[in-house]
Amino acid sequence: MTILLANIAKVRDRIQHATEHCGRDVKDITLLAVSKTRPATAIEEAHHAGLLHFGENYAQEAEAKVATLQHLPLVWHFIGPLQSNKTRLVAERFHWLHSLDRLKIAERLQAQRPVHLPPLNVCIEVNIDDEASKSGLHPGQLDDFVRALLSLDRLAVRGLMVIPAANQTAATTHASFERTSACLHQLQQQFPQLPLDTLSMGMSADLELAIAAGSTLVRVGTDIFGARL
Ligand SMILES: *Cc1c(COP(=O)(O)O)cnc(C)c1O
Repeated sequence: MTILLANIAKVRDRIQHATEHCGRDVKDITLLAVSKTRPATAIEEAHHAGLLHFGENYAQEAEAKVATLQHLPLVWHFIGPLQSNKTRLVAERFHWLHSLDRLKIAERLQAQRPVHLPPLNVCIEVNIDDEASKSGLHPGQLDDFVRALLSLDRLAVRGLMVIPAANQTAATTHASFERTSACLHQLQQQFPQLPLDTLSMGMSADLELAIAAGSTLVRVGTDIFGARL
């Protein structure tokens, strides 16, 4: 077995155990392989191991890989900060955007999403620990932001994405995930007409804590592909 196959098996095992630990169904967790900085060949190998969902952070790099791998039925997620001059790539080539944080981006995606494709799935990024260095909306801004998205029919508003502050204790990270989960529940009450079913939270180091707090999608890079160079 290659290292990549062994890593994927290990991550799947961790997800399985984490769901058992809190009485959830493993089928309710999507594993997104974060493939930034990895070559297309590594993505192809991960796909052969059964992975379908891949996450990219950088537009230029992503564009080349999506083109190289267009013969495979992959689901592409853009998870990095998105500049407004790069929205067309995401609108035309991606299935998901996890880092939506301003209306201008949403409006461009609405205008650029090709008519033959289904609406682009979007998650709103939440700055849950109120960090100056991070993008994302504060919990108190979510309601107005989602209201502003209601008229954009080329977007499917699916949920929230979060990256908690680094170097916290497990208890503090778990609390950040729980607060994000509570934000989603509130939006579900407020906007029952929207398909708000996604909590994009948890990475290599903290996926168990995220699953315990209700994550439905974990974004794993390092523990699948190895340390980034
Ligand atoms: C790089 C990245 C990940 C993956 O992080 P790992 O610690 O390598 O698992 C997840 N989410 C986002 C937004 C990232 O940029």
